[in-house]
Amino acid sequence: MDREWLEAKLAAYPLYAYAFITTDELVFADRVRYICEHECPMYNTTWACPPAVGTVEACRARVMAYREGLMIATITEVSDIANIQETLSTRAPHEAITREITELIRSQCAQTLTLSTEACAHCAHCSYPDAPCRHPEKMFPCVESHGILVTDLAEKHGIDFLAGSNLVTWFSLILYK
Ligand code: SF4
Repeated sequence: MDREWLEAKLAAYPLYAYAFITTDELVFADRVRYICEHECPMYNTTWACPPAVGTVEACRARVMAYREGLMIATITEVSDIANIQETLSTRAPHEAITREITELIRSQCAQTLTLSTEACAHCAHCSYPDAPCRHPEKMFPCVESHGILVTDLAEKHGIDFLAGSNLVTWFSLILYK
């Protein structure tokens, strides 16, 4: 990966922060998966979510097949962070940026693994579990689905994810080799 080239490209995006990371920095925690299972309404509804993504151990092995990656974060101010609809409306622009930056990295690297936010919303109706994913190249599981403690990674890189009470922060991780 030509980091200088990529950083010049990243300058065109409204990113709050980004950091080059190594996968040995990642903390995998079963409690993150527990939250998926017990608190997320998307659990068991798409190919991008547990249990379809596999066990935390299987996810860890998938991630650790990569050595390096790029973490990106966007931040958006909303009028009331308790307004779920308004808060979630900030997700699509983050996903669009994640997709474009993934394509940039794909132009340089033979393999990528992108983990992003929430569940996959690419199709109006997910084919899960009756048929295979229609667009595996566009399907980005969320970081948490793989048991990754993203707050720990952000802290390690000095990224403040509690920047303000009405600020919505989204993270994506694009691994490459
Ligand atoms: S791309 Fe479509 S079929 Fe695949 S996980 Fe996303 S919504 Fe489901």
